[in-house]
Amino acid sequence: MTKRTILLLAGDGIGPETVEEVKKIIAWMNEALGAGFELDEGLVGGAAYDAHGAAISEEDMAKAMAADAVLFGAVGGPKWDDVPYEARPEAGLLRLRKDMELFANLRPAICYPALAASSSLKQEVVEGLDILIVRELTGGVYFGEPKEVIDLGNGQKRAIDTQIYDTFEIERISSVAFELARTRSNKVCSMEKRNVMKSGVLWNEVVSQTHAADYQDVELTHMLADAGGMQLVRWPKQFDVIVTDNLFGDMLSDVAAMLTGSLGMLPSASLGAHDPKTGKRKAMYEPVHGSAPDIAGTGAANPIAMIASFAMCLRYSFNMTKEADMIEAAIAAALDSGLRTDDIMAEDCVRVSTIEMGDAILAELGKSAA
Ligand code: NAD
Repeated sequence: MTKRTILLLAGDGIGPETVEEVKKIIAWMNEALGAGFELDEGLVGGAAYDAHGAAISEEDMAKAMAADAVLFGAVGGPKWDDVPYEARPEAGLLRLRKDMELFANLRPAICYPALAASSSLKQEVVEGLDILIVRELTGGVYFGEPKEVIDLGNGQKRAIDTQIYDTFEIERISSVAFELARTRSNKVCSMEKRNVMKSGVLWNEVVSQTHAADYQDVELTHMLADAGGMQLVRWPKQFDVIVTDNLFGDMLSDVAAMLTGSLGMLPSASLGAHDPKTGKRKAMYEPVHGSAPDIAGTGAANPIAMIASFAMCLRYSFNMTKEADMIEAAIAAALDSGLRTDDIMAEDCVRVSTIEMGDAILAELGKSAA
């Protein structure tokens, strides 16, 4: 049997509650489908700080580096507001992204038919929406040096952030976007600001060269990032895959997120490069939402973002496309049957808890496998 190793880092707040629902699905897959998942668990965020005085221990970091995939819940909460800066819960997440060199952040925006009416946009604009934003995650203005606030000595200060991109960073993120497009509707739209930024000029040039060299079968378009934001809200279904830098990707993926409703519905994946020896790539899967301290422990958390993150893990780390489709169909079926957690509650629907939603999705999976 194929051995597939997953490290679970449930974290804080609603993290453990939602990860619990994924554990039930993994146990079912092992039993019913012989999937061969081997689970290990570690601590991250406030939970790790309480146990080890750090946002992630060296031992758990080593486990993350060795696992085929990491499933991450959420970190943070008021309990850890005053811990030292370098040990704050988010430091665990940042360390994982940095040490695992997760340069490609994938954020799908899928509008489940049952939720189309609850979007802030018109139903016909979002119904059937299925787009993927590929954001560069380890470069750009969030990391470029110099990055500082200088005292000018005349009562004024100057703040500096530096946007830097090298050719290889643009090549590798655009290759990820083109490869993913081939598994979808085969279209990539690259977004930058080449009209006012030198990094935008290079971005545009390198994406075009990468396309010409290896991906001419994929349809490529370019759009200025501000126009892209407008088009995302006007007619999002024109897009398939959008590839963009760290800063624009941060904003555009949040815009795309709200097309589909609640934070509790949004999964994400962060991928590293393929290891040339093993062909494997480091990867971490996590919901977009945080630890939601306001509802932690009440049973109100929506587990769908976490479960859909696991579906992404099946698709991108284990090449288990059929099983990923099954999970996404089971989520859609549970929603179609009218079940809703608090955050997506609507008229004439049945309010359910985290556990009940997890059980309903599991039951739908069982039906589809029968
Ligand atoms: P949040 O995403 O935790 O919550 C925002 C709002 O959305 C809250 O009202 C919450 O109840 C609701 N919500 C979020 N996920 C939900 C779900 N699955 N089901 C139902 N409702 C859900 O963001 P926040 O309140 O700004 O931050 C809370 C803590 O989480 C902070 O400590 C923050 O630093 C941390 N945070 C962590 C991550 C992460 O771990 N990746 C991301 C964002 C925020």
